[in-house]
Amino acid sequence: MLSQHALIPALLAICAALALGSENPPTAATGETGGPYVIFLGTGAADIKSPKTDSCPNCTYVREHGGRNRRRFSSLFVSPDVVVDYATTGRESMRDARVEPAKVNWLLITHSHGDHFSPSSIVELAGERIKSAKGELTLLGNATAAKMMREHLASLKEPPPIKAREVRPYEEFTAGEWRCKALPANHDPGEDCLVYVLRCGEKSLFYATDTTWFPVGTFNALKAEKLDLAIVEGTFGELTDPAYLAGHMTFAFDRLVREFLVGQHAMKPSGKFALTHLSLHWCEPYDKLAPKLAKEGILVPYDGLRIGL
Ligand SMILES: [Zn+2]
Ligand SMILES: [Zn+2]
Ligand SMILES: [Zn+2]
Repeated sequence: MLSQHALIPALLAICAALALGSENPPTAATGETGGPYVIFLGTGAADIKSPKTDSCPNCTYVREHGGRNRRRFSSLFVSPDVVVDYATTGRESMRDARVEPAKVNWLLITHSHGDHFSPSSIVELAGERIKSAKGELTLLGNATAAKMMREHLASLKEPPPIKAREVRPYEEFTAGEWRCKALPANHDPGEDCLVYVLRCGEKSLFYATDTTWFPVGTFNALKAEKLDLAIVEGTFGELTDPAYLAGHMTFAFDRLVREFLVGQHAMKPSGKFALTHLSLHWCEPYDKLAPKLAKEGILVPYDGLRIGL
């Protein structure tokens, strides 16, 4: 016990020092504390291209207004050197948020779907890291993603140094300064889709996409947390049609998950509840949605938003 208590101030100091040593992305900051921070690299679902062709009011608005209403594939940068999910739009998201490839040492993958995981994009990222004289990039994901990554690397003549490690539900592991825990999602029965809790000193965050209503074991594990930030997917927005509840969340679920976390004291009083993986077709665009949900204490992020923990 004593040694654990002694560790906490040391870890906090490390987190603060790492955050201070970071670059200053040109994005708005919310609740900066000088500690670790996240940048929402992407906040969209699989349908990010629908505004190009669809004539519904939401897609039309996104096409005509652009800006914060556009969304790329969901991805999160966690300072100082972790990215959760990395797909084909990962590199342009990082460029816009001014996160250099050399700043990424750990990739956490939630599941193998193409809007979350692209082995060839990860190889390109690793190639850019080599130019910055960085060593091995470590990928941590479920068995399916780890196997796909290894197979892709084996197909290359000169694969860059990427270590792909399998993570199982409920497994705890380290990613740099972060102590991570994988929890089961409820998304695709074909693989062990994962959501993650990340802790550094007294700071912690929860990242949950893709998933519908969590499995019981995930709810139980969350009761032990004191989250600074919970990020939960809200793919289908205000839809109530049961046909859309099978693999993803709606805002009705998000409101209940937030109530659960608050009711179980699993979020700090200062903790924030944010959405991600928002369908551009089914959800109202950022300009309209963000002010509405802010009244309920729900943060609607845009791509590039930086939040201090
Ligand atoms: Zn997805
Ligand atoms: Zn998915
Ligand atoms: Zn549409």
